[in-house]
Amino acid sequence: MASTHYNVAVIGAGPGGYVAAIRAAQLGAKVAIVEKQYLGGTCLNVGCIPSKAMLHIAEVMHSMSSLAELGINLPQPPTFDMKQAVVFKDKVVKRMTGGVGALMKGNNVDVFDGTASVDASRNVTVAMKDGSMQQFSADKIILATGSVPLIPPFPGVDGRNVMNSDTCWNLPKTPESIICVGGGVIGVELACMFDALGSKVTIVEMLPNILAPVDDEVRKLLVRILSKRGINIVTGAKVESIADEGEVKKVVASTQKGEESFSGEYVLIAVSRRANTTGLEQLMEQGLDTDRGRVRVNEKMETNLPGIYAIGDLVHGAGLAHVASTEGEIASDNAMGHEATMDYNVVPNPIYTFPEVAFVGLTEAEAKEKYPEARVERFPWSANGKAVAMGETDGFTKVIIGKYGEILGAHIIGPDATNLVSEYSVAMRGELTVEEIAETIHPHPTLSEGLREAVLAAEGRPIHIPPKQSLARTR
Ligand SMILES: Cc1cc2nc3c(=O)[nH]c(=O)nc-3n(C[C@H](O)[C@H](O)[C@H](O)COP(=O)(O)OP(=O)(O)OC[C@H]3O[C@@H](n4cnc5c(N)ncnc54)[C@H](O)[C@@H]3O)c2cc1C
Repeated sequence: MASTHYNVAVIGAGPGGYVAAIRAAQLGAKVAIVEKQYLGGTCLNVGCIPSKAMLHIAEVMHSMSSLAELGINLPQPPTFDMKQAVVFKDKVVKRMTGGVGALMKGNNVDVFDGTASVDASRNVTVAMKDGSMQQFSADKIILATGSVPLIPPFPGVDGRNVMNSDTCWNLPKTPESIICVGGGVIGVELACMFDALGSKVTIVEMLPNILAPVDDEVRKLLVRILSKRGINIVTGAKVESIADEGEVKKVVASTQKGEESFSGEYVLIAVSRRANTTGLEQLMEQGLDTDRGRVRVNEKMETNLPGIYAIGDLVHGAGLAHVASTEGEIASDNAMGHEATMDYNVVPNPIYTFPEVAFVGLTEAEAKEKYPEARVERFPWSANGKAVAMGETDGFTKVIIGKYGEILGAHIIGPDATNLVSEYSVAMRGELTVEEIAETIHPHPTLSEGLREAVLAAEGRPIHIPPKQSLARTR
């Protein structure tokens, strides 16, 4: 029987788990957190943070092609040192993961470096990295074991130069060419990154479209921009095998036209992610309810087992770090006797391509189906002074408005879209109408003016485009 007792034990220290631990500590709990691999989880070590550090470098490279127009002349093409880029990326990761360690200490959270296994009586056994075993019990347990890349079982998937999003971060040089299997958010972001760093990139996607949840109009524009840049986007192609053909990899896919093959120096598998249930085997034997491999929870993040909560990529949801963190806060609030429920209606979705894409709420198609009276308005970046000054005029902001003037959905493709979308998220969460956003003074010159102009257009009174003119009508 475990001797040490905690109020709350968190299993997994990703953005779900470490935030849950901090929140529980803030509420007065004695907290333990167990982490088997690295503080910060997927997000800080092999996900959000390294990808954004490398995408930052890639975006700088991408911007080099237009420097001469600004009067800046560099040798063309500029040279790129992947080894130094990896040093930069590692520095960023180290700083962020070190920060999580400091936060645990600052909040008096006990950190166990090892692999936890949990039972339904809330006893935790930890196989510590140093080889020892530790045991403790807890009043409440929050499962936050996250997810791992899904590796499909086709032949050659474990071969030479075949990578996934856990293993693609420390390459010695830019690949000459790369085939990205999977056109979801991770696949497309990484495709964009490798393209800007100088690789010849092909995306092979099984579905009829890449980026399935993205609004059709936004996706079409992004596909046009990426294709024009030279990224080969192949959809409706189900990869069947990967093989070596001399020095290169050959990816074979079945398409409507029959069998097609694609060659590249590297292959990146980015088809999906699956829940990581390591350490939860006993709980599953004891009846932990799951659904297609993910732990089933209610809106309070409670599982069917008393005192046991689950959050983040382990449960069904958006597969986003900020959602995992919010679920962590909700779980800890409930674990500590408060009442909190999770609301998935207003989840901002960022996609770090160039140009960026971000959206919140319903797509145009979803809104039109649910609310036939929904109105759609757009404002192009080409009419925004700051975007023109930045030389980033591709794209638009599009708002979908309900009959009371409420925002049903907002979609941005263009510069800094991932930051800008928060304005619409706050508006939706606060149930602001377009009129209230229109009445709010936005600073000039900023990209945020584009968000106001989109709702002014919805009010029939845009300033910087002719009234009633929409992108759809001008194309
Ligand atoms: C390349 C890439 C880019 C991404 N970019 C973004 C982005 O820009 N924005 C965004 O919002 N999301 C992004 N994501 C998704 C994001 O990383 C995840 O949604 C997020 O990490 C989920 O957090 P989590 O806490 O649920 O799980 P994780 O971050 O996966 O953390 C789970 C932790 O639990 C540990 N663990 C597992 N089992 C045990 C056990 N038995 N005992 C102890 N520890 C255990 C694991 O080692 C891991 O550290 C990206 C993902 C990838 C792969």
